Amino acid sequence: MALERIETKEDYLDSLRQQKREIYYLGEKVEDITSHPAFIPHINAAAKTYQMALDPEFEDLATAVSHLDGRRISRFTHIHQSVDDLIKKVQLLRAIAHETGSCFQRCVGWDALNATFMTTYDIDAEYGTDYHQRFLAYLEMIQHSNRMVVGAMTDPKGDRGQAPSRQADPDLFTRIAQRREDGIVIRGAKAHQTGAANSHEILIMPTQFMREADEDFALVCAVPIDAPGVIQIFGRQTNDQRKLSCQMDQGNRDFGLVGGETLLIFDDVFVPWERVFMAGEHRFSGILVERFATLHRQNYGGCKGGVSDVLIGACALACEMQGTTRASHIKDKLAEMMHLAETIYSGSVSCSALGAKTASGAYYPDPLLANCTKQNVTRNVYEIARLAHDVAGGILATMPSEQDLAHPRIGDYVRKYMAGVEGVSAENRMRVLRLIENMTGGTALVESMHGAGSPQTQKVMYQRLGKLDMKKKLAAKLAGID
Ligand code: SF4
Ligand code: FE
Repeated sequence: MALERIETKEDYLDSLRQQKREIYYLGEKVEDITSHPAFIPHINAAAKTYQMALDPEFEDLATAVSHLDGRRISRFTHIHQSVDDLIKKVQLLRAIAHETGSCFQRCVGWDALNATFMTTYDIDAEYGTDYHQRFLAYLEMIQHSNRMVVGAMTDPKGDRGQAPSRQADPDLFTRIAQRREDGIVIRGAKAHQTGAANSHEILIMPTQFMREADEDFALVCAVPIDAPGVIQIFGRQTNDQRKLSCQMDQGNRDFGLVGGETLLIFDDVFVPWERVFMAGEHRFSGILVERFATLHRQNYGGCKGGVSDVLIGACALACEMQGTTRASHIKDKLAEMMHLAETIYSGSVSCSALGAKTASGAYYPDPLLANCTKQNVTRNVYEIARLAHDVAGGILATMPSEQDLAHPRIGDYVRKYMAGVEGVSAENRMRVLRLIENMTGGTALVESMHGAGSPQTQKVMYQRLGKLDMKKKLAAKLAGID
């Protein structure tokens, strides 16, 4: 049974087939995501997290020693035990992104595990509850089985100007609909859930700080992806029809362009108490959200830095094939792209280097620097894409398709007029341009803007953590103001 211990890519695929999830795409129910072209690239990307753990070259990054029992486990199930662990996390994400050129999804659940670990410890210390013990049993199961977890935070939210309990439809925030002796029944949904389609488990968290009136929305619990009442609707992406009808024109056929997101619906899902890790302790909802967000924002200079490396390489190849590499403005733009990528990476490394131990024993990155890193990603990745469009040329938007290239009447014309530098095949030039086109199109950019929280949520953190009073005092002292 592959679900008992998933090690290889084949185990992972078997495990996905074993779980009978209810999932829809383009208005149709999908019975087997592992053989459906809309899902295969995302599954391949997530599978890399398993494959690299078995590769001796990446063992140090991709695995860790469990603090629970000393066993070697996937780092994606590990609770960070040191600053070194935090830095290795970022290095691992960049290394995997080099292989996939896209989001590999598994960090969402990893961050949810760490945030829940820290926060259940704090809740128990305050209220004498036993959430942490329950969570440790769950964590041990995840570490041992090596299941992929999706951390589910973002609620649909309905009217953003109203509290959860004041929505016209209370299900717009995921909530406890019923408390029973043996557990709870939950109802609601989570929006744009990266990797949920091909995860095994859902770790549900509250979406924001909750007040007393909203205590039924202060909910942390774990649900198998195939639990009765869990329904997923897979989102559309830019160029997604190409997955169904093209090979080369997908740009990155093997791993896709983004994580692949679903709308995750909970239609009266029963959760036994042993899988409930917060049920109404609303005072801890805010810190849980902040921790998850910080842990996920820590990542973005790692994964997006790695994805940017692939894009920069693609641009350099395109320039070589087009004979523009000697132009000084091209050299300058490629250097600028590298500067932007290393800037976001250094943000991820620095928030990790200044990480600290929490009361629970788990290590946590510096929240101000992690938020700063993610906000830089919302800018730098767009600028890197803009420069990619600049150096690659307008052909990105006008190129004939792979079907034209293969056509008996017009294929030779495509080859003739898509030629670049002598000796470079037109097909190779088209391949690299397609990669650039797809990596810099709609969905791929929006992921960098809103993934791990929209830019405004990072600015809110500056207001809280940016020590403006201290800065005013510094200025007042130098200006001679009392
Ligand atoms: Fe991981 Fe990056 Fe994807 Fe988030 S966007 S899940 S950090 S690869
Ligand atoms: Fe993300």
